[in-house]
This record gives sequence, C-alpha cells and structure tokens, in this order.
Amino acid sequence: MATYDECSLCTGLLTDSNAVRLWDGRDYCERCLEARLPGLADYARSHSRLEETSADEPGRVAMRLLAMEAGIFAIFFLVFLAGGASPAEAALVVGLLCFVQGGIQLPMFFWTSRRNKTTIVVENGTVTCRRRIMHIRETFELPLGDFNWTIGRPSRDMAQQHARLWPFGKVVLLKQRNASFWVRRAQIFACGWTEETKRVWVAFLQCAQDARHTVHSE
Ligand SMILES: [Zn+2]
Repeated sequence: MATYDECSLCTGLLTDSNAVRLWDGRDYCERCLEARLPGLADYARSHSRLEETSADEPGRVAMRLLAMEAGIFAIFFLVFLAGGASPAEAALVVGLLCFVQGGIQLPMFFWTSRRNKTTIVVENGTVTCRRRIMHIRETFELPLGDFNWTIGRPSRDMAQQHARLWPFGKVVLLKQRNASFWVRRAQIFACGWTEETKRVWVAFLQCAQDARHTVHSE
C-alpha cells in the first residue's frame, strides 16, 4: 500500500520539493506527472481543484442548424421532384421553407445552448457534476473511483445533446459505473472543451486510474 511519502505511480520517495497533490487527493512525484503531460505539475500546484463548465459556441450551434437544414432541404427537394415539380420550382419552394424554418429555430438553438450547462469539479477525490437542462438543475456528487471515462461525442451528455451534435468534436466523458442502465445513460458528463483542458483531464484521469491499480496490485 502506498503511503503518504511515496509517489502513487512510481512509489519513489516524495520530498517537499517534488511532491504534487492531484485532484484525486493522491500525491505524485513531479517527474511522473511531467512524463504524462509537460506542465501538469505546475497546473496542479496552481489549481486546488479541476473545474470546467461547458462553453457557449454559437459557431457550432449555427453549423449544426445548417447541417440539419441541408438534410431537410435534400429530402423535401426529392419529394417535390417526385411530385412532378421542376428542379427550379422545387429548389425555390423548399429553399424558402428551409430559410423561414431555420430563421425561427436559430434563436431557439442559441438560447438552448446558452442555457444548458454542465460544470464538473474534481477536488480531493470527489467529483461534483452540476447540470442545468432548461429549468431543471441537477447536482451529482460521487467519489472519483465511481466513474469511468472515455473520449466521445459531447452530445452524450444530456445537457449538451441539443447544442453540439455537429460537428462531432470529441470531448472527455465521465460515466458513472456500477449503476443501472438508465442511470448510466443519464449520468454521462462532458468536459475537456478545449485542446488544453482536454489534455489536462486525460492526463489526470489516466494518473488517477493507474494510481488505483498501483495500490490494488500491492
Ligand atoms: Zn513518481
């Protein structure tokens, strides 16, 4: 069993100068952390907790709407052609309908994307997920060890499914394990929205995972 004086990964001796506490509450040596991600040790020293909130991305929201309208246009264009309309007539009518429909939906999409938020905080081994979906606010607080993680589509987080279906940028997903199917599906939380925060989340979660295995294997 690793003690307070040992690095949770290499079990090397920790000193005041090389010890770094990560957000899982474990201590690591600076060398192990730097090997995982250069700058992680400094980042951990300057952030007592790892926290991120999903960002507003109007560009992505608009792109998603555009992709959706393109799909609708293609389907109705073909329907009109099958109904005997000329390509020019079909394009004009369907184009106009898509323009009006898109114009009505765009503000709604922007509003939804600003309103629905996911905030994840990890501090001393505990994960707190705060989520707002329209008027519903939820908070989940669980030990870090109760989560699995993966890289995937942000839309798997229920607060993000309306805003970022396209393009399929990948983020870090925390998933509650040892729960029933429906709870597992509901309790997926997205983080790592920028390349920098994604690198930090991945490096941290890998360290925490490996440290758990180091402890268990002893
Ligand atoms: Zn180490």
